[in-house]
Order: sequence, then structure tokens, then C-alpha cells
Amino acid sequence: MAGEHYVVFARKWRPQTFQDVIGQEHITRTIQNAITAGRVPHAFLFIGSRGVGKTTTARVLAKALNCLSVEGPTCQPCNTCDNCRSIAEGNSMDVIEIDGASNNGVDDIREIRDNVRLVPSRSRFKVYIIDEVHQLSAGAFNALLKTLEEPPPHAIFILATTEAHKVPATIISRCQRFDFRRVALPQLCTLLRAILDKEGVKCTDEALQAIARAAEGGVRDAESILDQLVSYCGDEIAFKDVFDVLGLVDWQVMHDLCDAISAKDIGRELGLVEDVVTAGKDLSQFVQDILRYFRNLLVCKAGGTKTLLALPDEEIVFMQERAKRFTLTNLIRLVEQFAELTKGFDSQLAQRIAIETLLIRLSKRAVELSVDTVIEKIMLLGEGASISVPESSAAPTAYETEAPAPASRLHVTKANLDGAWSVILEKATEDQIALKVNLSNARPASIENGMLLLRFPARASQARTALDKPEHQRRLQEALQAMTDNLTHFRCELADDEPATEPTSNAEHLPRGARVSKDDARTAMKDPHVSAVVDMFKGTIVDIKPPKRHEQP
Ligand SMILES: [Zn+2]
Repeated sequence: MAGEHYVVFARKWRPQTFQDVIGQEHITRTIQNAITAGRVPHAFLFIGSRGVGKTTTARVLAKALNCLSVEGPTCQPCNTCDNCRSIAEGNSMDVIEIDGASNNGVDDIREIRDNVRLVPSRSRFKVYIIDEVHQLSAGAFNALLKTLEEPPPHAIFILATTEAHKVPATIISRCQRFDFRRVALPQLCTLLRAILDKEGVKCTDEALQAIARAAEGGVRDAESILDQLVSYCGDEIAFKDVFDVLGLVDWQVMHDLCDAISAKDIGRELGLVEDVVTAGKDLSQFVQDILRYFRNLLVCKAGGTKTLLALPDEEIVFMQERAKRFTLTNLIRLVEQFAELTKGFDSQLAQRIAIETLLIRLSKRAVELSVDTVIEKIMLLGEGASISVPESSAAPTAYETEAPAPASRLHVTKANLDGAWSVILEKATEDQIALKVNLSNARPASIENGMLLLRFPARASQARTALDKPEHQRRLQEALQAMTDNLTHFRCELADDEPATEPTSNAEHLPRGARVSKDDARTAMKDPHVSAVVDMFKGTIVDIKPPKRHEQP
């Protein structure tokens, strides 16, 4: 190419036939059918995001209508006759391209209106392509509408827009509407590969997919990224080059970060942020990448389709594996919080701090129980769902536990004993099914000088004996010390008769007007979830409604 004028790929490889327009077969087929049937509408409305082929299709259509190689309009313009060539070069007298953004006044449209009456000079049709038509002023739309209402037989209007909702309904109703799609990843890859082959440039499949993914379904964007890469790399493009040129964070970093988050490994998380900063990457881009990554995990978790993910198959397998480590609620929360983080970024430092604090908070779950967690629990109770302790968290998931961190250890009193017990229980029995089953028989009876007395009903003597195992003793003791600031050890005793319970809850102090008896409130407080909720809100039970149950067949 030495000495030649450099032409960007988007122009050099612009599709010249309907077959070359990729990803819009639903549109090109309809248009070709209309041409064959001799029923070409007078006004087209092309809707779609930028760089997906609207103007390109409009030009191919203009050639199809005016090609001189055959008697009438054709689906296969020859691309060699005077008309085809002048349209491709953008200097046809009869195909007028107007940028709606800069020619948006009434006068501009009036000019078109006057011009439209004149018969075409060397063609069958006068074709007006108005790009970004939504930018026209109200007056200009009115003038355009008059023309669209009574177009001369030789006039064809092709209106293109990225924002259809800004185009008046009166205009839309005069047009045949075509919705352009973002181009799917495999099609984009095929196109890019074809261009690279013609240009004699080598490129790995991974690099190609990374380019296509970054273009987010836009052909023009993909081609201009390719331009950049060829200038940067010469005739060989590697995966790493794509990330360097685009300033993207390597996909592997995303996997690592995900692993660190699910393992609550704060050291690793901060190390990854450090790596990204050291590599000179843009942090707001980093957050976008994180957001996209977790959004993909969420889509996997929610059972979304492959099309929603736009990822290579092997990548989807990775994502599905990782999605298993989170609950749906966790993922929703993650995505929401990272989305929140993208708002109001100003300095690089503020961005870094914001990312880091969010990561820590997500991992520690220390600060407070979020309101939605509480609501979730209350809803579980309301549905009468399986909430017994052995089942509710039999399969521990990443930061599923709602336990407070050492920074906010509980001070256990007689009043909050039941609620505190459920928190201690949850901590002590993480990954410990046997311990969980045994401990679910115990009731916290009293506290004294840092000692928690656990009482087992007579029928549960086996569970009581199982607690003598040293590893169980250690687990429970560690949980007591980690979760509370005043309990250090415990003692188990077997009750003489069952049920062995003590009135210990704050349900004792019923407010005036409560529609519940003390006995009922006490019974309700025996449910660890109820007592946890009451304790969380420092509330009391004032009424009990039976849970709505699904009708049994
Ligand atoms: Zn031709």
C-alpha cells in the first residue's frame, strides 16, 4: 500500500450488494421482494443503532432502483454502470444524502420540497436519504410531512434514525418501517476475518472475538477498531494487542476478580485493582467491564439464552460455572451496586476508592443487614417456605451468611438472646451439616459470666452427646467469640422434661393494643428467623397472621 491514499476499512469494504449487508437479512430480503414485486414504497424508515448498516443499505437500495444494466429496478445492481458508480462514490445528481443534524431547518426541507418536483436527470428515481432524521425541527417535520403525503411518483425517501421515539408519529405512519439489529458476534467475526484475509493480516480467533465483543454489534465500530489495530500491530494481531489498543482490562482479570469476590478474598481483590491501576487502565472502563461481566453472570444464573450473552461457547461454560457460586439475589445486588458506582465518577482516585470500598463491603457484609435482605427473609416466612435451620442453608453459597463481622459484634443480653443465638448458630454451622442438625435441637436458656447455657430436650440426648466432640466444641466456641463481645464459652444441659424453653424474648413486653397473647408471641419467637427479624428492628410482635399457603391438590 506504499504511496497509496489510505482508505479506512469501513469505506474500503463497504457492502455494495444486498448480499454483502450482514446481520440484516430480515430487511434486505423484504426490500428485494418489494423490488421484484414492483411494490417499492415511497418512504422507508430505517431505525437502528449507529454503524449497523442503515446508510449502506440505503445506498444499495438507491443503486437497485437506478442501475442502468437492466430495464427497471433490480435486486442485483451491476456496480459498474454510471449510476451505480456515481451512487457508490456519493456524487449522483439524483441520490441526495442529507444530514438531518446540520440541515434541520424548515428552509432546508422546503428546498427539498421544491427540488423533489423536478424529474430525475439520468435515473428512474430521485432518492432522498435523510440521516439522523430525528434531529429535524418541528417546522421541518411539517414541511417533510406535506411532501410525504403527496410524493411525485419518481421520489423515494429513505429516513434513517438512531432514535425513532423522537420522530413524530405522523411521519412514521407514512413510512414503511425497518428495524436494524445489532450484528451477532459470529457474523461480525466472519466479516472481520474476511477483511483481514483480504488485507493479508493474521489475527488469532481470541483477538477477533475480543474486537467483535468490544464493538457491541456495530459493524462500523468493529471495522474502525480493526483499523486502529492494523496501524498498531502491522500484519499480525494478538489477543493482548486488542486489550492494549482499546484500554480494556483482560478478561482473565475479570475471572480472577470474580473468584476473589466469591471467596471474599479482600487481599486479592485489592491486588487486582492495584494491577489495573499500575497497567494504566481507565478505571471507569474497568467498572464498565466489571458491570458487563457480572451482568453476564446474572444472565447465566437467570437461565438467559446464548444470544443474550454474545460470548464464545467456552466462555459461557466458564461463566455458568462461576454463576453457581452466587445466589440470584447476590448477583442482582452486585450488578445494582456496580451500576450505582458508574454514576458520578469524577477523579481517578475517587473511582479507585469507590471500587475498593464496594468490594470490601460486598465481601465483609459487615456494615449492616440491608433492608432487602430483611424483606427477603420476611417474605420467606410469609410464604411458609422451608426455613428450618438444617435446610435453609444446607448448601452454603458465597456471602450468603448475614453474620456481622467482628467490628460489629453483638452484645448478648437476655432480651436479644434468641436472635443472637440464630446468628451464632449460623456462623458456627457454616459448612457443618452434622453440627447444624444437632444444634437445631438446642435452645439458648440463659447467659452468665460469659457463658451460654444451651438446653436440649430430653428426647434429644443424642444430639447433646454429639456436641461433646472436640471439633464441635471448638466451632461453637469460636463462633461465640467471633460474633459476640460478651460470650466466650458454653455449657450444654439436658432438660428433665420437654419442651424445654424459657421465656427469654422481648416478646414478653407486649405494647398496648397488641392483638396477640404472650404465649403466642413467645411461641413465635422460638422460630430463629422471627426472633432475628424482631431483634434486627428492635421490635415486638403485635399480631400474628397465618402464612398464605398454596392449596394442596
Ligand atoms: Zn448498475
